[in-house]
Amino acid sequence: MSETWVYRFNQVADAEKAVGGDWEEVRGLLGGKGANLGEMSRLGVPVPPGFTITTRACNEYIANGGKFPEGLSDQITEARHAIETDTGKKFGDPNNPLLMSCRSGAKFSMPGMMDTVLNIGLNDDVVEGLAALSGDPRFAYDSYRRLVQMFGSVVLGYKDELFEQVLTEYRVKRGVTNDAELSVDDLKEIVARFRRIAKGFPDDPKEQLRLAVEAVFRSWNGKRAIDYRNAAGIAHDLGTAVNIQVMVFGNLGADSATGVAMSRDGATGEPHIEGDYLMNAQGEDVVAGTRATNDLPELGNELPKAFDELKDISNKLEQHYRDMQDMEFTVEQGRLWLLQTRDGKRTAQAAVRIAVDMAEEGLITRQEAVRRVAPEQVDFFLHPQLTGDSRQDAVAQGRLLGTGLNVSPGAAVGVVAFDPDLAERWREEGKDVLLVRPETKPDDVHGMIAAEGILTSRGGRTSHAALVARQFGKPAVVGMDGLEIEPDNHVMRVGILEISEGDWVSIDGNTGEVFHGKLDTFVPDLSDPSLVKLLGWADEFRDLGVRANADYPVDAKRARDYGAEGIGLCRTEHMFFEEERLPIVQAMIMASRPSERRDALDELLPLQRADFLGLFEAMDGLPVIIRLMDPPLHEFLPAWEKLVDEVADRKIRLRAADSLEALNESLSELEHAEKLVHAVERLRESNPMLGLRGVRLSVIYPEITRMQVRAIIEAACDAVDNGVTVKPEIMIPLSVDAGELAWVADILREEAAQVLAERGRDLDYRIGTMIETPRAAITAGALAETAEFFSFGTNDLTQTTFAISRDDAEASFLTNYISLGVLAENPFATLDDAGVGTLIKMAVNAGRSAREGIEVGICGEHGGEPKSIALCHSYGLDYVSCSPFRVPVARLAAAHAALAD
Ligand code: PEP
Ligand code: MG
Repeated sequence: MSETWVYRFNQVADAEKAVGGDWEEVRGLLGGKGANLGEMSRLGVPVPPGFTITTRACNEYIANGGKFPEGLSDQITEARHAIETDTGKKFGDPNNPLLMSCRSGAKFSMPGMMDTVLNIGLNDDVVEGLAALSGDPRFAYDSYRRLVQMFGSVVLGYKDELFEQVLTEYRVKRGVTNDAELSVDDLKEIVARFRRIAKGFPDDPKEQLRLAVEAVFRSWNGKRAIDYRNAAGIAHDLGTAVNIQVMVFGNLGADSATGVAMSRDGATGEPHIEGDYLMNAQGEDVVAGTRATNDLPELGNELPKAFDELKDISNKLEQHYRDMQDMEFTVEQGRLWLLQTRDGKRTAQAAVRIAVDMAEEGLITRQEAVRRVAPEQVDFFLHPQLTGDSRQDAVAQGRLLGTGLNVSPGAAVGVVAFDPDLAERWREEGKDVLLVRPETKPDDVHGMIAAEGILTSRGGRTSHAALVARQFGKPAVVGMDGLEIEPDNHVMRVGILEISEGDWVSIDGNTGEVFHGKLDTFVPDLSDPSLVKLLGWADEFRDLGVRANADYPVDAKRARDYGAEGIGLCRTEHMFFEEERLPIVQAMIMASRPSERRDALDELLPLQRADFLGLFEAMDGLPVIIRLMDPPLHEFLPAWEKLVDEVADRKIRLRAADSLEALNESLSELEHAEKLVHAVERLRESNPMLGLRGVRLSVIYPEITRMQVRAIIEAACDAVDNGVTVKPEIMIPLSVDAGELAWVADILREEAAQVLAERGRDLDYRIGTMIETPRAAITAGALAETAEFFSFGTNDLTQTTFAISRDDAEASFLTNYISLGVLAENPFATLDDAGVGTLIKMAVNAGRSAREGIEVGICGEHGGEPKSIALCHSYGLDYVSCSPFRVPVARLAAAHAALAD
């Protein structure tokens, strides 16, 4: 006996048995749509009868070079007969015709990516029968012309434009704007014309069905499906299932309709049903976005019974699937049918709201709610938004072009590109692009991904443009009335205003507003109440602490607002780069005598003290890790080439001096420039990142370290005087040796003791080290004899472990390595578990053995990256530290890591 390739919807239990009862496996076998159709019939939801051909049959077909696997034809016939018996209708029988649809349905939803053929079963005889039976010849011939058109383009591969041209010709001839206004006779002529185009269209319904199934199988490997899978990260070997289903008609008169519904608002997550529908129309009219759709609640006025039933079913499906549902429905002469349901795509904002609401409704647990929001989705709340002022100005200046549907939130500002390839090219050139299209199609996805945002003149909330934009988090406005786009002429018009390709346009995906020009944007704060709640739950579940890398009090405040539990890294040298401080720092570096250096340090001391005081105040009660100066000193000096030019220039000016005053001034400028040249030459190293930096600076220039320690301890004392609770942690960078670390720690303690004696007080502080080299990791046990805490500087640790320069590698070869697949991932973005991770684990173990309870964290860039955070959780670190904007992402990622255990 051959394998079972075909399952009727009401045989879903058999499919479940065949795969061992696992629902994921059922979805793999029957595709998402097929599995859900089966599940819906099991739940008693009205689903038109039908059957699913398995994904395995598709894979076999492809593997066989385009041949049906053995037994498939017979099983299709058998399933069809069963449906004929159920419905009392017969395929190909003009007296009582059964019409079928044939649709793709992969395991993961790929909206509009693969092919569909409707109205299978019509031919010249059957159409007459259908006309008589329905009493509506217009409907019958319209269905027939749709079949020939779809079959012609999808199965036989003729360009859809050919058919559209014929339709346009008739509309023009009759002076109408809508196909619905064409007469039966027109449609008969159109069908005849279509059949001349679609050479090879089979009269035999069984042949139509077979060829349609093959076309769906083949569409799995069509270009747009492959592009979509690449972009969405879907495996290429899953194959698609095919769903064959009895046709129900939304275009059978004034009590018929068709539409799509979401059980909750897909943009905001609000708990009400939403969607689009059209009266007296077929499904593809809604999805194609070519006709202006109505808002779903209006269906309540037009077909109240069907609308109420839809709301009940929507609730029932949500309760069953415990998630928001995206449903397709048709009302045929007052009777509601569900054509499919699947978990609805939603914006990040909606994902958070829905997860939290469902947890509060008791539909899911809080843990599930937390797991349902991807850490990256939190980013959305930090998406750019238009500033109020900039928007107001634009409105006042008459630059508001109009309003479309606000289908995907966030503001996008870019130069207009009408063509997806151009959008992609401009993006590669570093431009911000807005993709503007009449409507989008699956072939446009690469341009949509490249664009900052998407604007279309047609389409509804569930149009292709809207769905894809939401999925990829792109701000989008669709269906903008009054926008005329002429891609071939590279212009768009709103009224008399003409906007050319390359001009700036701004859109607001929250309101649907579209503006001419480049508006200002800002990043919002995280005040969304659902998000606050969700992150609060995440905090309950996570084991990892989350701290922030912050150098300035404002950053520290923001980080704390975002939930940071301390500062994991303050890079003190960042303050030295400030304009008014740099000359003092340079004077310190150039000093030839210790007294000169001390003068410069005396000037820096109050500045640093003020910096640190601000940090302690912002982090009142929380630990603050302040790292001693780390970079090689030449980084504070101008480039040698520039200085040499300057010296030459000063010499010329000296000769041109026409007064003693001018001469003196030029002379001192020349001396300064020459001193800088000497300093640069003195500090020059072949490998500065392996040179005099980090802890080594403290050994060679202990007076710098003393100044910094004094500033830290004095600031801590001042903060305590102001009633602040301080937990200072002084961190020594780039240690490689226990003796070196102990040497510097002694200096630290001595200076700190002196300050405390001067102040006459006692204060707890910790001394610790960064682990940034393999040697430090390997000898961590010895380092822990001095260090009271460790922080993994994984930027340097990755650099030193791989012997790959963190500054140059991406531009020179690392990107190639990744595109060639030599390395699976960029180790500077995602922590390298095998190498760097092994060193971290080794150091954590050694550190904890040497000093029980030693605090260990990470402060490299990886501390804000979800996959790396999961690794840090598995290594048993105490906390991750990341930039303030990543803190909320890290809180959620840490909870995911803990819940995955
Ligand atoms: C690191 O190396 O990971 C680190 C945090 O220090 P920096 O990036 O300042 O070198
Ligand atoms: Mg470092």
